[in-house]
Amino acid sequence: MAIRTVSTMVHPALRQKAKKVRTFGPVLQKLADDMLETMRDEPGIGLAANQVGVLQRVIVVELPKDDDEPRSGKTYAVVNPKIVKASREQEEMEEGCLSVPGLVGDVWRSVEVTVKGRDVKGKPIRIKARDLLARVFQHEIDHLNGILFIDRVESPDNIRRIVRPEEAETEEQREAATALI
Ligand SMILES: [Zn+2]
Repeated sequence: MAIRTVSTMVHPALRQKAKKVRTFGPVLQKLADDMLETMRDEPGIGLAANQVGVLQRVIVVELPKDDDEPRSGKTYAVVNPKIVKASREQEEMEEGCLSVPGLVGDVWRSVEVTVKGRDVKGKPIRIKARDLLARVFQHEIDHLNGILFIDRVESPDNIRRIVRPEEAETEEQREAATALI
């Protein structure tokens, strides 16, 4: 495994549509492994291949372990992910992104989604996600389509500055700087 550089806003791959993966093998496995290691190193709770400059439809998601959240701590690596069902019920929540450093914004997302795709070996998978997990999947699949959370905020007033965890001086700032996707 190796840690790769996370692209930030100016990188063109963030604004491009990633291509469908057609070859399952060691190259794909290495990409997924590297993405996981990169996400954990940042740290983040989700990462799309565009964010490491690779235009392939691959995402990884891993929520931190939380006793109140049954699916937390589980690792997802999904190839060619697609939202096949999204609840009409939506929720507005603050979002940040590893590729948009220093900014967070309030974004409306479906509370529940069903994601279909393949695992890194090519086996079909189907994931039913709600709340934060559902949000992360929607955010990452947006990345594969060249969309950033700042495109989804209702108005620029909903975008705020934050400091990175290592620069945080108060506990409040540190909390706001976590959970980047
Ligand atoms: Zn992001």
